[in-house]
Amino acid sequence: MSGNVILVGAGPGDPGLLTVKGREALAQAEVVVYDRLISPAILAMIPEGAEAIDVGKRAARHTVPQREINQILLRKAQEGKHVVRLKGGDPFVFGRGGEELEILAENGIDFQVIPGVTSAVAAAAYAGIPVTHRDCCSSLHVVTGHRREGTALDIQFRALVQGGGTLVFLMGVGALPEIVSGLLEAGMAPNTPAAMVERGTTPCQRRCGGTLSNLPERAAEMGISSPAVIVVGQVCAQAEKFDWFSRLPLKGRRILVTRPKERAGALSEKLRALGADVTEYPCIATVPLDPCPELEEALGRLSRYEWLAFTSPAGVEAVWRCLGRLGRDARAFGNIKLAAIGGGTAKALEGHGLSADLVPEVYDARHLGMALAGAAKARVLILRAQEGSPALTEALSGAGVSYDDIAVYRTIYQNPRWAELRRALDAGELAYVTFTSASTVKGFVSTVGADADFGKIVGLCIGEQTAGEAEKHGIPVQVAEKATVDALVALAAKACRER
Ligand code: SAH
Repeated sequence: MSGNVILVGAGPGDPGLLTVKGREALAQAEVVVYDRLISPAILAMIPEGAEAIDVGKRAARHTVPQREINQILLRKAQEGKHVVRLKGGDPFVFGRGGEELEILAENGIDFQVIPGVTSAVAAAAYAGIPVTHRDCCSSLHVVTGHRREGTALDIQFRALVQGGGTLVFLMGVGALPEIVSGLLEAGMAPNTPAAMVERGTTPCQRRCGGTLSNLPERAAEMGISSPAVIVVGQVCAQAEKFDWFSRLPLKGRRILVTRPKERAGALSEKLRALGADVTEYPCIATVPLDPCPELEEALGRLSRYEWLAFTSPAGVEAVWRCLGRLGRDARAFGNIKLAAIGGGTAKALEGHGLSADLVPEVYDARHLGMALAGAAKARVLILRAQEGSPALTEALSGAGVSYDDIAVYRTIYQNPRWAELRRALDAGELAYVTFTSASTVKGFVSTVGADADFGKIVGLCIGEQTAGEAEKHGIPVQVAEKATVDALVALAAKACRER
C-alpha cells in the first residue's frame, strides 16, 4: 500500500477559513504534520487515532529544522500513511511548500496541494483593507521581510516603488524600520497610507494604521509583534471606513463553551462569527449504558406505550445504538408518538428520519412534562440520562399519567484538563461561560472545584432550569429569551455590549 502527502493550507487563523477540501483531507488523514499558528479549532479536526506531529517553528530558532520536516513527510509516506502537511495560510506563499514537495517528487511519492487563504490577503481583508482597488492601484506585491542571518534585506525597493502597487510584507515585523527606510529612499512619499495587522482574522486581531513614515513609531507604541502583515499603499486609506471585523459585537471576548464535544460546533461557530474568542471546554461527556437490558426490554414491547419522550440528542443516539445492536431500525417505532424536549432533540430524531409529534413551547423538562400530561391518554416511555430532572416525571404523576423512566446513558461531570480551567478562572481570564443545560453547570463546577470564586464570571444560560442550577453555586447568571442556540448567542452579544 502506498502512502501520500497532501499539503493543506490551513488559512490565516480563523478556523472558518480552512477550505472545504482541506477539511475533507484532514478528516482522512492518518498522520498530520503541523506548524505553529494553526488554530486549536482546526487541530481539533484531526481524527482521533491519527498521529499528530507538531513541527512548529519559532522565528530565528527553528524547533524542527526544515530538512527534518521533509524527512518526516517522506518516512511517513513510505510507511504507507496518508499524510496531511498542515501549513499556515497558503502552503506556497512563503510556506516552503516547494521544498517539501521536492523530496517527495524525487522519491516517487504521490502528493497533492490544497491551497489556503493567505494571510497576505486575509489579514488585510479582516482589517478593512482591500488589497487592490480600481481607483488606486493595478498590482499587488507580496514580499518577504525575512533575511538570512547576517545578511541585509534582499528587496528591490526601487522596482516596488516604481510599480505603484499595493505592497504586503510578510515576516517583516523585525525589519520594519529597514523596510520603511528602504521605501523612503527609493522615493515613496512619506505620507503614503500604511498599516500593520497583527494576528489577523483571529479574535486578538489588532490594526495599526498610519503613514509610511510614522508606522514604525505607531507600531512600537502599540507593541505590535509577529505574526503581522505590513501593508503599504493607497488602499490602506480605506481601512477606517471598512474595518468590519473589529466592530463585531463579541470581538475579542473570551467565551467558554462547556457543552459536550459533539454538540459544541454550532454554538462555537455562531459565537466566532460574531468575533468571539471561543474556548471549547466540554465539562460533560455522555456515555451510553451498554449493555442496557431495561432499554432492550422496552424496545421489544413498544406497543405498550402511546408516547416516547426524549430529552436530549445523546438519548436519541444511545437508543439508536441499542436498536442497531438488536438488528432493528426506525420502523420499530411504527405508531408510537414521539415527544422531544426541544429543537436539538427534534433534529436528532429527524436525523433518523422521524419527526417529533410534540415539542413544548419552552424547552425544559417541566414544560415537556406538562405538554405530555395534556396529550397522553396512555403510558409514556421516557428514555433519558441516569440523573434526569424530576420535573418531568412530577408533571406526569401530577396529571395521573403512567410512565416508565429508563436511563439510557450516563453523564460524566469532569474534564481532565481541570487545572488549566481553574487557573484561568482564578486569574480572572474567564468572563463569560455558556451553559446549555443544568448538567453543563454541574460539570463546570465539579471541574473547577466548588470552592472557586464564581462571582467573577457571568453564566450565560439557555433556560431557567440551567440558570437555577448555576445560581445554586453562586454564579451570576443571564438567561436567554428562548432555549435555543440562536437566543443564547444573542444573549452573549447583549451581555458583552452592556459590559
Ligand atoms: N504561508 C503563510 C505565510 C507564512 S510566513 C500565508 O500564506 O499566510 C509567516 C508570516 O505570515 C508571518 O510572519 C506574518 O507576516 C504572516 N502571517 C501569518 N499569519 C498571520 C496572521 N494571522 N496575521 C498576520 N500575519 C500573519
